[in-house]
Amino acid sequence: MRTITLSNGRTVEIECLSCALTSGVIEPDGGVIVETEYFHAHQDVAYPIKGLVILASKRHITCFDELTEEEQLDYIRILTKIRKVQRKVLGIDYVYYFYNEDTTHHFHTWMVPRYEWMYEFGRSVESVRPVLLHARNEMNSEENRKEVMQAIEALVEELN
Ligand SMILES: [Zn+2]
Repeated sequence: MRTITLSNGRTVEIECLSCALTSGVIEPDGGVIVETEYFHAHQDVAYPIKGLVILASKRHITCFDELTEEEQLDYIRILTKIRKVQRKVLGIDYVYYFYNEDTTHHFHTWMVPRYEWMYEFGRSVESVRPVLLHARNEMNSEENRKEVMQAIEALVEELN
């Protein structure tokens, strides 16, 4: 068991954060963005970046080659659908995708939109962590949080 502190300050003891989120034990801030038979999309508002989406499998697996054929199809379809909607409703030109198999929880892909300000941290994969930390530490204003929540609503509306 791990103790996890949620963005609202509440702490919970859980086995796996992704399981807790995809099964509804923990409700992410902003709610569920979209759900399919095998996947669940939400935002981690601890990183207040407009249009950032985390796409997690519902099954507790860690490696890509553990996906069944049905899950593979579902994954690429929903990933593409979310990407299209990010472009359509939020005008997002580019997204960085990040997924590591040695996660402490389970299979989830970060879809991190690229905004102009991010390029000061570089253009490659090394820039992702500093970008996320910058967002978490410097962009938690009331106003930005509101914009992030509005972006979630726009995604939810278009995807459901
Ligand atoms: Zn899990």
